[in-house]
Amino acid sequence: MPDTYTSVPNAVPTAVLDAIHRAVGDKGFVVDEREMEPHVVEWRDNYRGRAAAVVRPASTEEVAAVVRICAEAGVPIVPQGGMTGLVGAGIPHEHGGEIVLSLRRMNRILEVNPTAYTMTVEAGAVLKTIQDEAAAHDRLFPLSLAAEGSCTIGGNLSTNAGGVQVLHYGNARSLVLGLEAVLPDGRVWNGLRALKKDNTGYDLKHLFMGAEGTLGVITKAVLKLFPRPKDVATAWLAVRNPAAAVELLSRAHAASEDNVTSCELMGRLGIDLVLSHIPGSVDPLAERHDWYVLLEWSSTRPAPAHGGGMLAKMEAFLGDAMEAGLVFDAVLAQSSAQAQAFWKIRESHSEAQKLEGPSIKHDISVPVHRIPEFVDQGIAAMKAVMPDLRPVPFGHVGDGNLHFNAQSPTGMDKAAFYARRDDINHAVHDLVRSFGGSISAEHGIGRFKLEELERYRGPVELDAMRAIKRALDPRNIMNPGKVVRV
Ligand SMILES: Cc1cc2nc3c(=O)[nH]c(=O)nc-3n(C[C@H](O)[C@H](O)[C@H](O)COP(=O)(O)OP(=O)(O)OC[C@H]3O[C@@H](n4cnc5c(N)ncnc54)[C@H](O)[C@@H]3O)c2cc1C
Repeated sequence: MPDTYTSVPNAVPTAVLDAIHRAVGDKGFVVDEREMEPHVVEWRDNYRGRAAAVVRPASTEEVAAVVRICAEAGVPIVPQGGMTGLVGAGIPHEHGGEIVLSLRRMNRILEVNPTAYTMTVEAGAVLKTIQDEAAAHDRLFPLSLAAEGSCTIGGNLSTNAGGVQVLHYGNARSLVLGLEAVLPDGRVWNGLRALKKDNTGYDLKHLFMGAEGTLGVITKAVLKLFPRPKDVATAWLAVRNPAAAVELLSRAHAASEDNVTSCELMGRLGIDLVLSHIPGSVDPLAERHDWYVLLEWSSTRPAPAHGGGMLAKMEAFLGDAMEAGLVFDAVLAQSSAQAQAFWKIRESHSEAQKLEGPSIKHDISVPVHRIPEFVDQGIAAMKAVMPDLRPVPFGHVGDGNLHFNAQSPTGMDKAAFYARRDDINHAVHDLVRSFGGSISAEHGIGRFKLEELERYRGPVELDAMRAIKRALDPRNIMNPGKVVRV
């Protein structure tokens, strides 16, 4: 494929920058290199780009004005939220001929309607703020992930983020009723409808979700809220193996009366990395085991005063699971602080891997019932490429989605490890394909997996994606060189 985006001329004309400056005012316009630095470097330092300007609009009208100016001049735009994405999608290229469009000033909660269970927000609102606002109205916004203190809802929707409660509530795409977006020609599409049912032609909002900023700029969203759980039970379990985890989950759906909200699988190496790198983390169990599950059940009904709530149900369930040999040992959280300590271990896996050294990451999915087979064969496949590589599989077993990561062999040179990246990726992703799975179940494609997408999706699917991109963005100005190459 021709890499048209890398040949963008190095300079954005001064007249264009001046017009953008006028559209957003001094507060919204940054060209100082030091001030731009945090907007052009990926948080893991995997990508360092350059930008002609960082533009920080304060309203949809300002976004539209900036996009119109860029569309007329053919200047590429990189939409940006909290910059927690993991595939380089929100980072500009190295040539410096793009502008970064940061949505972070557009961070208002515009309306909460507890009766209708909806909330309308601007795209730059931080996920944690949205969760807290919902809680303040005795409602739940269930999207929850380790980056929630920094990521924005616009970024969450643009990556169709998942997180730890997809099992029960679905991913970001399922949590949206309506959207407002600025199209690549600068026109505003107002799809801010709070409708549960709407069959008026193509459902455009789904085009923008998961598009990683390549089809337009999301500016506002109407989100779905849910009743707030009143009775939550959380357990840390040592399980026999991944097959036991899948069986346990299958039984838990009925035993919990369909109240399983999370089921996270972790291997021992991941736990060891967290214990050695994350201060304050403590192993919840005295003995070492090979596999663990973090299981959470949540009911919207308060626990009955006479007993029989989630905790009691889970205790009985785990007793049976131990008798059946699925679970070796278990701790039930007796307080929300203890539950949070369990969650901290799970959510610190990425950070611990980063502190340990180089790793190669895969966020794959396969049918849930095939996870155990995949884990066995996937570990063997990675080790066939590099026998001393240290596999760190963990993640959302209930969604069939694992972070199937490879930590470099102890003491191995970073460059030597990364030199085998393609071989390791292909070993894992070829296996994913043979399981009918996906090479990206969470993080998206960005720049990082462009070649992988082209390798693993067939020509019909790629042609359809390119046709959509060309139809909406004929000048290829919206985050070019990410997701699909046209
Ligand atoms: C510690 C950690 C844990 C994570 N855990 C999970 C997880 O469990 N599940 C999961 O799915 N992901 C996870 N992620 C990755 C996740 O995709 C991002 O954290 C988040 O969804 C991105 O939001 P952001 O605001 O940071 O977006 P950015 O990183 O700024 O941008 C991401 C993409 O969205 C585009 N974009 C941003 N805002 C807009 C907008 N308004 N309009 C159009 N395009 C836009 C950008 O161009 C880019 O392509 C994790 C990341 C970290 C660092």
